[in-house]
Amino acid sequence: MVKSLRGRWLAWLAALLAAVLGGFGLALYAESRKARFDEVDAELLAAARVLEGSMRPFSGPASDRPLSPPPFKGKDKGKGPPPLPPQELDRERMIRGLGLPRAFRDRYPDIEVPPYFAVWNADGHRLKAMGDAPDERPEEPNIEDTYYHYHRPGRHEVVVLGPNRAIILVGRSVERELAQLHSLAWRITLTGLAIFGVGLLGGWWVAGRAIRPIAAMNETAAGITADNWSRRMEVAGAPTELAGLAGAVNTMLDRLEAGFVQQVRFTADASHELRTPLAVMMSHLELARTQPRSAEEYQQTLATCERAARRMKSLTDGLLTLARVDSGKLELAAESVDLHDVAEEAIALLTRLAEDHRVTVTLAGDAAPAQGDADRLTQVAVNLISNAIHYNRPGGTVTVTTGMADNSAVMTITDTGVGIAAESLPHVFERFFRADASRARDRGGNGLGLAISRGIVEAHGGNIEVRSTLGAGSTFTVSVPGARDGGPPNDES
Ligand code: ADP
Repeated sequence: MVKSLRGRWLAWLAALLAAVLGGFGLALYAESRKARFDEVDAELLAAARVLEGSMRPFSGPASDRPLSPPPFKGKDKGKGPPPLPPQELDRERMIRGLGLPRAFRDRYPDIEVPPYFAVWNADGHRLKAMGDAPDERPEEPNIEDTYYHYHRPGRHEVVVLGPNRAIILVGRSVERELAQLHSLAWRITLTGLAIFGVGLLGGWWVAGRAIRPIAAMNETAAGITADNWSRRMEVAGAPTELAGLAGAVNTMLDRLEAGFVQQVRFTADASHELRTPLAVMMSHLELARTQPRSAEEYQQTLATCERAARRMKSLTDGLLTLARVDSGKLELAAESVDLHDVAEEAIALLTRLAEDHRVTVTLAGDAAPAQGDADRLTQVAVNLISNAIHYNRPGGTVTVTTGMADNSAVMTITDTGVGIAAESLPHVFERFFRADASRARDRGGNGLGLAISRGIVEAHGGNIEVRSTLGAGSTFTVSVPGARDGGPPNDES
């Protein structure tokens, strides 16, 4: 099995060329052979007609009687045939003197192989034979056709019905024609082979040119490494079919590069986020171990370590949830859930936080029934409302509204906080993104809340959007398919 594209293309070309040249050569040979032998047959028929013509003047009144000596009878036995009547004698003499007349040779002046002939009477007696004529009388042609051709190995013959149902056979050796055809067959074969060879060479060259852009693409692709994503396929100079492929590969490379960069940043961010609480824990533990401390100080150290451990747990839980979202393995319960109740519960959980930040949280709107995982949807509501409280100003408000819109259960969280800059808006759902890093860190956030919220909402078949004005506040809108639309698409519980 040929593996290379060039080899395959060449194999196809070879098969095609062989079929075309073989077919053409065979047709040419068959046509030439037919033309040559048709000529021979025509020549033989002409000779037979000439012979038949030269016999006609002697058919005379005896046409009803066969041209043969009468059979020996009774007392004539042993004395030889009785003398023929004068008219029959004439006929006999004429037939004995029969030859291919001058007229025939005038018609075929170039004739190299002279035909032979023989004449039989109706009784089957051979009256005249010349050259290689066969002894046995051939079949009589039928009356309508008056002749037929007969092809023996190396010979062509024609049998004609003559006067008085005489049978005339004219034939000749076709060894010379066969030798010529043999040589023609060789010439056709050799020419075909030469064309085949040139065709293959040409095909090899053309295939080389055709795959050159592929080789160039191959080289470019080989040059793309984790350290060097800058190279892209040449689209401008490529043939149309490959330009499409090159464009698609370039788009794929763009996506891969973005994904790779994101992955690298994600790993760096995740390690960074883990390092901070780890460093806190280590320094406090070391201090506690190396210096004698009071019971109260030990208590403080343990409390600090616990906070750091909680922070790490929240981070690893978040990362685990995101990993499940990415692999499509986030397990969701398919229960009846009302976003209004979800919002109510989230607000209840955050009452203390709201009080601490002196932010008023209000719930408005109607029931918003959906099918989904109440705990996960509550997690989303807590993320969004706690953000709305954190990134608010003292005395500000957070309004949570629920309801149905276009068969979707919708929850909007509007705050009167700091808002998000327009350039940051497209990134707020990215992992570890923080529009205002110092402020976010103050509140103990890790930059995963919105990414996880989006993952959970999308796993429910819904979507989450944000609108914001810097300095005026933000509105986050969550919508999931309403209860009438059935459950979440990736319900695996
Ligand atoms: P974090 O833990 O930092 O809050 P999130 O994923 O929840 O992580 O939010 C990402 C970033 O989006 C935050 O750091 C903050 O800059 C911005 N953000 C989120 N919600 C709000 C909001 N309601 N008002 C202003 N900025 C917000």
